[in-house]
Amino acid sequence: MSDKTLQAVRGMNDILPDEAELWLWFEEVVRDWLHSYGYRNIRMPLVEPTALFKRAIGEVTDIVEKEMYSFEDSLNGDLLTLRPEGTASCVRAVLQHNLLYNAPQRLYYSGQMFRHERPQKGRYRQFNQYGVEALGFAGPDIDAEQILMCARLWHKLGLRDVTLQMNTLGDAAARKRHRAKLIDYFGRRQDMLDADAVRRLHTNPLRILDSKNPAMQGLIDAAPKLMDEIDDDALQHFAAVQAILEQHDVAFEINPRLVRGLDYYNRTVFEWVTTDLGAQGTICAGGRYDGLIEQIGGKPAPATGFAMGVERLLALLQDSGMTLPRQQVDAYVAHQGELAGRLASSVAERLRDDGLRVLLHCGGGSFKSQMKKADASGAYVAVVIGDDEARAGEASVKPMQGGEQTRVALDALTRTVNQFIK
Ligand code: ATP
Ligand code: MG
Repeated sequence: MSDKTLQAVRGMNDILPDEAELWLWFEEVVRDWLHSYGYRNIRMPLVEPTALFKRAIGEVTDIVEKEMYSFEDSLNGDLLTLRPEGTASCVRAVLQHNLLYNAPQRLYYSGQMFRHERPQKGRYRQFNQYGVEALGFAGPDIDAEQILMCARLWHKLGLRDVTLQMNTLGDAAARKRHRAKLIDYFGRRQDMLDADAVRRLHTNPLRILDSKNPAMQGLIDAAPKLMDEIDDDALQHFAAVQAILEQHDVAFEINPRLVRGLDYYNRTVFEWVTTDLGAQGTICAGGRYDGLIEQIGGKPAPATGFAMGVERLLALLQDSGMTLPRQQVDAYVAHQGELAGRLASSVAERLRDDGLRVLLHCGGGSFKSQMKKADASGAYVAVVIGDDEARAGEASVKPMQGGEQTRVALDALTRTVNQFIK
């Protein structure tokens, strides 16, 4: 294409029909799976007040610092952001509509998220997530249930090389003590920190531990450990989560370096990782966020959730060689002549009334060229209506896989077509 402005925005993908079939299949599997655990669908706007994400995700996080698509509403000056994730919106919606008033909630949503990242395989500026949130549950049973859910989905999808990493971040008080120790530790070694780390030293020192800078790994390895600060309650909670996973033979690895990118997590955090996608190997991530509801202005309530990256999961499925049968129609209705044309459109509607998938030929042309299109459509039969058939109120049925063409009364058409559908 010559005109650059007529291309999609960099990092934002079109999903073409062949690939969209895989998406549709995936969405069906995921919906059945979510419903089998009693999760209910919720749908939030794509745009939220910028303040929501700043408050929920944290000012000193990659997302808020450099990845958000934020803009000013030119009509009223409101500061708005294309959602970079769904948890904050979901909690906002639940509070706004008082859903937590009487009962805990198991909720899910799906759709596009927007982050201004450097596009590469598995990392896009518009991407899709399924988000799964359980609000109002405090115990380790729900943490474990959500992890078991994931394991079940990988199994359903036939994904084998996916491993579970977990950690506990403890509670707010432990993180505060740890934070003070980190500031002290890194503060005395500022000459060894990179620019990102210096900036985070007093705002979010925990994030320094997340640094991928090889030059700082020794320093990070020797830093004060959060685990040494974590209180008994949180340790017991984590032990109980692990016990349930063991009961179900779900293998996991404890990764003390796993802190997650967002501020709102506490206690259990986890990531499902594969080595098959190169650097973008995390297909699903989540954890507990007991402080978020209060932070967004609600009465304090515990919560836990996770999000799956759809593009990464589908890439994994495609790499594993998965193919789907092409979506096809049952019948292709071919016709020639004015009377036949009128009858053909009625016949097509009637076949659809009877539950069949029907392509009605549009655009004229010889029967020969219409039969070529019928063949390419993958239909099981062509329903052929010429002047002869039209005058008699009948139609001919031609099986596309070979076999005799038969002429039947319209009343017998659906029955005849059905004989050839596999
Ligand atoms: P990463 O470390 O890969 O940047 P993240 O911690 O920012 O991931 P989360 O905010 O936890 O990701 O989002 C949950 C999931 O959404 C990720 O595990 C990943 O599968 C997917 N995801 C996140 N960012 C992108 C992106 N830019 N493009 C495609 N998928 C993404
Ligand atoms: Mg990220």
